[in-house]
Amino acid sequence: MAKQWKADYYDGKTAARQMVEVRTVSQGVHIKFTDGRIRFWYRHEFHVLQDHPQGPVRLEYGEYPPEILEIQDPSFRDVLKGRHLKRPRYLALWLALLAVMIIPAIIYWGIPNASGWFARFVPVSVEEQLGNYVKNELFPNRRICQADAGRQALDELVRRLAPEEYEYNFKVEVVDSDWVNAVAFPGGNILIFRGLLEKSPSTDALAGVLAHEMQHILQRHGTENLISQTALSGLFKLISGDAGSWANTLFDGVQILSILKYTRELETEADESAMNLLLQRRVDPTEMIKMYQVLNKHSSSFPEAISTHPDMSSRMERLKILISQNPKFVSEPVLSEKNWESLKNICQTLENK
Ligand SMILES: [Zn+2]
Repeated sequence: MAKQWKADYYDGKTAARQMVEVRTVSQGVHIKFTDGRIRFWYRHEFHVLQDHPQGPVRLEYGEYPPEILEIQDPSFRDVLKGRHLKRPRYLALWLALLAVMIIPAIIYWGIPNASGWFARFVPVSVEEQLGNYVKNELFPNRRICQADAGRQALDELVRRLAPEEYEYNFKVEVVDSDWVNAVAFPGGNILIFRGLLEKSPSTDALAGVLAHEMQHILQRHGTENLISQTALSGLFKLISGDAGSWANTLFDGVQILSILKYTRELETEADESAMNLLLQRRVDPTEMIKMYQVLNKHSSSFPEAISTHPDMSSRMERLKILISQNPKFVSEPVLSEKNWESLKNICQTLENK
């Protein structure tokens, strides 16, 4: 696991100092607050300052007055300079060049096979914009469930599942709707519909669906779909992060829903990596199968267009095989009974979006 650094955080509005924990990943820094909140600052979003060579390192983020992180250990600066923290725009430039050189090969192989490979090079910040756009286009007037205790329980569940090293800021919302379903968007957004919460046999079962949706994000499946549909024109916009113009033109001729419809291969990939995540986090994986039975039963209750979880029966069979390969597995409860109750009641307070 990456080294954690103790740091002082100032919000830029008050003089209050907060103790936080910081760690670096390839595209920026992760900030963990004592109340469990997590922030992610991309490398291109902050400046690094150091007044004395042996003095603390200061990161400044945002417009004046900036938010500030101060790390006492001067060696933190070396980590930032290190090769695992690159500025994404240089990376993007290199990749654009690389893409130009191998276009003939791509045309020969066909774009659908290459799109998964290319999706890995789209900056996370661009995926976030893409995901927000798709989410607001598809679910513009959603009512978000916001009861405090339920919200806290949901955050706890997300923390339990989030992988150690990740660049995504997972943002999970419960939507006040009878649909028995959950949908993930590129960049870290996940919507869970109230119907799914109500029909979940247990927290572990809900954790199974959440882990699956997180894998669609981590493996960039939505971005991959978009690239395969927009081909090279969309690819260059995504890699270069030309955010000002792409939203209007990128989706020309693309059915937005099709970005969230995954092939059987992508679904299987998400299932298998979700199962590994559950095993690592000591979540009972057999509950995921129960959840899939529920999803299967209700799959006709929502419009065909939103049916984002196809081919359940064969996927369940594969999961059963994976589970049987880990016979000695012992699980630990994901949430206390009380917190699970709170989560199920999260829709008692609503907010319009
Ligand atoms: Zn899926």
